[in-house]
Amino acid sequence: MVESSYPMLTPEEALGRVLASVQPLAPVRLPMDQALGHVLAAEVRAAEDMPPFPSSAMDGYAVIAADPAPERVVLGEQDAGYVQAPAVGPGTAVRIMTGAALPPGADTVIPVEYALEEDGRVRFTRAFPPRAHVRPVGQDLAAGDLVLAPGMALGAAEIGLLATMGYTEVAVHPRPRVAIMATGDELVSADRTPGPGQIRDSNSHALAAAVRQFGGVPIPLGIVRDTEEALRAAFGDALSRADALLTSGGVSMGRRDLIKPILEELGQVVFGRIAQKPGKPTTFALIRGVPAFGLPGFPVSSLVSAELYVRPALRVMAGFSAWRRPEVAVRLVHDIRHDPDRLEFQRAVVRWEGGQAWASNTGDQVSGRLRSLVGANALLMLPAGVSDFHRGDEVRALLIAGGE
Ligand code: AMP
Ligand code: MG
Repeated sequence: MVESSYPMLTPEEALGRVLASVQPLAPVRLPMDQALGHVLAAEVRAAEDMPPFPSSAMDGYAVIAADPAPERVVLGEQDAGYVQAPAVGPGTAVRIMTGAALPPGADTVIPVEYALEEDGRVRFTRAFPPRAHVRPVGQDLAAGDLVLAPGMALGAAEIGLLATMGYTEVAVHPRPRVAIMATGDELVSADRTPGPGQIRDSNSHALAAAVRQFGGVPIPLGIVRDTEEALRAAFGDALSRADALLTSGGVSMGRRDLIKPILEELGQVVFGRIAQKPGKPTTFALIRGVPAFGLPGFPVSSLVSAELYVRPALRVMAGFSAWRRPEVAVRLVHDIRHDPDRLEFQRAVVRWEGGQAWASNTGDQVSGRLRSLVGANALLMLPAGVSDFHRGDEVRALLIAGGE
């Protein structure tokens, strides 16, 4: 058997080399409504206090808390958005709505539930201390506060705060643009009927979906023939408009497996073999600083390697500091036999029962069987050196769904 000359790395070594080769993309400014899910690239400080004026937290009456008068004259009404009411003094009150500015002189709001108003006079059934039901200036934000720190991902609350502060644009790391090429002379596009010896290209679509799930923007370049000319042209096109490149197929030892030599020609191959199953020939190169992943053609291998290596790279490029999947101990629902030669990532469904995670694999684990990933929410990590696992045994698993 002809052996590849590339050193065999462990999955951790391979991941370490990928992470050492990528960095967050240069920040861009985006309108806040397009920034959801992006990572902040600069700190955001409050320029003003919020609320900017003392306001009522309830519908009720603005009064002086220490006022001993048994009954008070209602001087008028303060509605949210208006400052029309006169100042409150001893023996007086102003009817006030939630969100309205507290009139001068008043220090407390007595909710309407405790008030009886008749003929322009109001009595209260209980008293409240100063500052009750009043939102003071700067309760939410004080001018100068560090409100959002670089590295934070923008969600609904963060975008709400940007709007509160009047920041309609924000500096974020862009989503990485990822060119995807499916290589193989046997491939036809999914809308065609394959001829003899042909199959439909599923990897272009599965990888584009995976890239989107990882937070990238897929640029599908379609099917590329197994010739040096076609591959060179496709790589040239990909490099002109992407931050990262993915290919599927053509990384094995066959005569038409041209990806590794082309990557050697265009850049530097960082690794070309990993001691794992599936995905052993997974290749990683840098072409003028652009990360390029040569994923195997088998549909499961390409998606598992994308999960293990492409996802962390894209997360880092998008500015996230967290890229690790949760790794948990699970018990096996059934016996599993595996090839003790390499660490194997078996596709599995993990369920929780009484605080214990139970895993069953998804059936036949051959790497051409894409159905082994359907419904899977975990990758069991079956270590090299052990071939038989039994029902009830504990193994490690990466949770690949549900945590996004
Ligand atoms: P390769 O890595 O090029 O040797 O391909 C390995 C296997 O994966 C072969 O059976 C291919 O037909 C299959 N394969 C390669 N590319 C694709 C693709 N884009 N979609 C579906 N299957 C593929
Ligand atoms: Mg091929």
